[in-house]
Amino acid sequence: MKKRKRPNYALRRKVAVFILIMIVLLPIIIINRVKILNLHAYVPYMKYSKVVDALFESDYSKDEVVNLMEYLKNNEKITEDTQNYILKLHSKGYNKNTINFVLKNLEKKEITSLLSKSHDKDFEKYITFDLFNYNHYKRYVEFQEEHDSLKLKDVVTRVELNLDKDYYEDTKKEKNPNSITCLVNKYRYLDEKYIPDDLVDMDNAYANNSDNQKRLRKEAYNWFTKMVDDANKVGIKFYAESAFRTYDYQETIYNSYVNAMGKIKTDEIAARPGYSEHQTGLAVDLANIWTLSEGMEEYEWVKKNAHKYGYIIRYEKDKEDVTGFGAETWHIRYVGKKAANYIYKNNITFDEYYINFIDKKK
Ligand SMILES: [Zn+2]
Repeated sequence: MKKRKRPNYALRRKVAVFILIMIVLLPIIIINRVKILNLHAYVPYMKYSKVVDALFESDYSKDEVVNLMEYLKNNEKITEDTQNYILKLHSKGYNKNTINFVLKNLEKKEITSLLSKSHDKDFEKYITFDLFNYNHYKRYVEFQEEHDSLKLKDVVTRVELNLDKDYYEDTKKEKNPNSITCLVNKYRYLDEKYIPDDLVDMDNAYANNSDNQKRLRKEAYNWFTKMVDDANKVGIKFYAESAFRTYDYQETIYNSYVNAMGKIKTDEIAARPGYSEHQTGLAVDLANIWTLSEGMEEYEWVKKNAHKYGYIIRYEKDKEDVTGFGAETWHIRYVGKKAANYIYKNNITFDEYYINFIDKKK
C-alpha cells in the first residue's frame, strides 16, 4: 500500500506565524513612517522627544529631521532654542537619553554652559544612575575630583549619603525609627526621646546582665537567640555585652570620653548621643569575656553566619569612608534577612544599601 505523504505542518505553522507577525508589525512600521513624513495630521500630538527619537533612527535622514523641526517650529510646537539645542547636542555627540534629559531638566544658562564645552562623558554617565540628582551635580564633580579612583556610581552614592560634608554637618532626623532598616549614622539621628516600644529583656543565657539589664527589640532578639543557639551547637560562645542604650546613657558615655580625651578623639571612637545605633534597639556589641575581635573564632563565625539571622557586621575594616566609623568587629546590627543577605553577598555597607533601596522608596 502506498503511504500518503503527510503535509508539512511545521512549515505551514511557521508561515502562519510569520503572516500574523507581519499583520501586527507592518501597520506600526508604516504609521511611524507616515507620522514623520505626513506631519499635518500628527503635529498636534508631536513633542520634541519625537524629534529626538527620529534623529537617532537610521530610517530618517538628518534633512528629514531638520525639516520636521522647522515644521514644528512654524507650528509653535517647539521653540527656536529647543531646535538649536537638539541639533547642537546631537552634533556634540550626546545620546538620545542625554538630550531628552537636558531639555527636560536644565535651564537655558546651564544648557549654554554645557554646549560651550566638549562632549562631557561623565555627565552623560551620571544621569543614567537611579540616585542621580541634578541639584547635586556640582557636588558630584567636586567629590570626584578629590576621589578620582572612585567609580562615578559610587561618587553619586556617597554624595547622596552626604559624605562630601563633614561629620555631623547637614544632619537629618530619621523619619522611620521603628523600621528595622532605619539608618542612624553621622548624618542621621534619632530624637532624644526615642525609645522603641517593643524592647524585651534579654535572658542571662544571651547577655551579660551583671551591670544592668540588656534589652533588644523583639524581632532582633528572637533572631539573636537563634544565632547564639546555633553557634553554641558548634561550640562557639558569645553574648551581648551591650544592646539598647537610651539617648541619656549614650550622652553619659560620650561625655565621659570627652572629659578623658577631648572632643576630637572622642568623635573618632564614640557616636554622639542621638547618633548611636544602640538607641535603635537593633544593635548588639558581642563579647566572649573579651569583645570579639579579628582572629577570634567567635568573630570568624559571626562574620560568616550573622546574615543568616538578619544581622550584619556594621562597621567593617576599610569601609570607614562610607560608615564614618573605624572597624568595630564586635558591633552587629539587625537589618532583617533580605537586607543582611544582600549586604553580605555584595560586600557593601548598610549605608549604601539604605540609600539605594530604602530611601529611594520613600
Ligand atoms: Zn556598638
